[in-house]
Amino acid sequence: MKKWNLVIDVANCFNCNACALACHDEYHGNEFPGVAAEMPRRGHRWIEILQRERGRFPAVEVAYLPVTCNHCDEAPCVAAARDGAVRKRPDGIVIIDPQRAKGQRQIVDACPYGAVHWNEDKQLPQAWPFDAHLLDHGWTRTRGSQVCPTGAMRTLHVEDTEMQSLAERERLQVLQPERGTRPRVYYRNLDLYLKAFAAGTLAADIGGVRECVEGARVLLRRSGQTVAEARSDPYGDFRFRGLDENSSGWSVEVEDARFRKTSVEFSLTDCAVLGTLVLQAA
Ligand code: SF4
Ligand code: SF4
Repeated sequence: MKKWNLVIDVANCFNCNACALACHDEYHGNEFPGVAAEMPRRGHRWIEILQRERGRFPAVEVAYLPVTCNHCDEAPCVAAARDGAVRKRPDGIVIIDPQRAKGQRQIVDACPYGAVHWNEDKQLPQAWPFDAHLLDHGWTRTRGSQVCPTGAMRTLHVEDTEMQSLAERERLQVLQPERGTRPRVYYRNLDLYLKAFAAGTLAADIGGVRECVEGARVLLRRSGQTVAEARSDPYGDFRFRGLDENSSGWSVEVEDARFRKTSVEFSLTDCAVLGTLVLQAA
């Protein structure tokens, strides 16, 4: 049986908030019996765009991470609910029943992703229901997917086996996989948000003028092992992404026949901006 999934590409999200606004537009002022009670005007963000800024001039990176209910296959919220107040549909969608869930604040606490919001007026836990009422009437995309101008948010209706192959082929990741919740919201390029980077610039004094060094081979090494390789661009810049935060024992080595071998050691917090490495002629 085909099931619903969301695939979000962090590299293509630029924080326009169109998906979050479409969600607000869909659920504020409307209720969908069996699927969702009305979303309050303020205070709830069933789709939220998190932001992270790292680095320092000239190597600064900003990444945006749309987050929402993950429609987990092993959902802690289902286990925490009484009287079947949260149910997993055969098509993968998790629904917090707007009637049965009344007064069940423990559903908010049960979600490890902070995706459930408490509606004080209605005494009701609420989360994004994957626009189930629209999909049930023939829609093939959620409203967020429909309005996303870059295609960063895609709705997929596929068999689980197909989804798993896609996840492996495109190296998709989920949030906090160690929890074993098996989310149905997948991310491409999640490292841009979760992982550290190291960056620097290569220059050399040529004919009395300090010039950028293009095309030099730069090795990223850790504990004596080469783990990645890059070439400096026309501005002399190089960058390594997808590194573990708060890690040590790193170095970069510049190997280029034109220059003497140069290396610099560093540790990573959320990034390492190495500045300009001035190479000496061989
Ligand atoms: S609509 Fe697309 S680009 Fe805009 S914030 Fe949402 S996911 Fe990102
Ligand atoms: S993200 Fe939270 S609310 Fe959504 S299914 Fe998973 S545990 Fe439940």
